[in-house]
Amino acid sequence: MPRVEIARVTLFGYDLRYAHGAYVMSGGRTITSLPSTVVRLETDEGLTGFAETCPLGPAYLPAHAAGARAALEELAPSLLGLDPRNLNAVNDAMDAALAGHGYAKAAVDIACWDILGNAAGLPVSTLLGGARADDFPLYVAIPLGPVDAMVAHVRARRAEGIRRFQLKLGADPREDAARTRAVLEATEDGDVIVADANGGWRLQDATIAARALEDLDRVLFEQPCPTLEECLIVRERTTLPMVLDEVVTDVGALLRARPACDGVNLKLGRVGGLTKAKLIRDLGTELGLRFTIEDSWGGDLTTAAVAHLAASTKPGQLLMASFMNDWTLDHIAGHEPRSRDGRGAAPTRPGLGVTPDVDALDVLTIVE
Ligand code: MG
Repeated sequence: MPRVEIARVTLFGYDLRYAHGAYVMSGGRTITSLPSTVVRLETDEGLTGFAETCPLGPAYLPAHAAGARAALEELAPSLLGLDPRNLNAVNDAMDAALAGHGYAKAAVDIACWDILGNAAGLPVSTLLGGARADDFPLYVAIPLGPVDAMVAHVRARRAEGIRRFQLKLGADPREDAARTRAVLEATEDGDVIVADANGGWRLQDATIAARALEDLDRVLFEQPCPTLEECLIVRERTTLPMVLDEVVTDVGALLRARPACDGVNLKLGRVGGLTKAKLIRDLGTELGLRFTIEDSWGGDLTTAAVAHLAASTKPGQLLMASFMNDWTLDHIAGHEPRSRDGRGAAPTRPGLGVTPDVDALDVLTIVE
């Protein structure tokens, strides 16, 4: 096999505006627009791969946009000369060059999957083991706010075909229970409601919320408390199906979190890209867990990467995925992949299967 080498690394920046005003999470975390960073890898043989990383603001996870850009600048020289089709070599080189910062490494990892697919003439879903479904259910997050506003948002997305809703909660637990009940009444049998506090409750409030929601069918409880230790205790106090998100950062964390959850919200950036997400997805699938597949934020490129992992996940163990390019206004690849009636599908062209128009983006850094 002739050798292929990464010859140039280019970082681009653009701003992604939320499509529905203010995206509000627990703890006063509010987002209206976020800087996303696009990585383009080019090889000496003319192969190109793209990916993006867009942390959900600086106070959601230990990740932020300027950190992603600094980390990628730190990593870029160590990528030159590597064969991007060798995901093991690329990930090893990144870990040797910089500890942590998986949210930045994720973009390089995914761009290499894009190149691998382009080189092989196969979509990334095939390289991830093979697509298991023609399409899959999508969800949307409903920002924390007044009950009426949350119900109206649910009704509007429901009219577009969405049947899975994740409520941003983590405020007063009794008011949060009222929000959840009101949304439940605005939906129908078969719809799924996720009560996601994003770790916004401490133990006592999480217990109050769980007790208030305990008898509600169709409601899942997501990351009630910030620490795994608290979530383990909450788990002993409720029969609500539980999903963990922020605390599941790697395989070790997955195994520690297992007694506290039925499902995992798997975000590509949080775990360091598709290579590590596939490992966690495959291990968790064998352990009987269900998965929400997504990223913390992103546009067309993030949505494409998510779509390939979601399509290759066992349908019975895929809770849902997000197409975040429906949540945001700024499209760099023509708003592809495109959702349809609340469902998503993986692109069928080689690689990620989307073509970003980088001429419209700001060039941040070129390393060659
Ligand atoms: Mg979550």
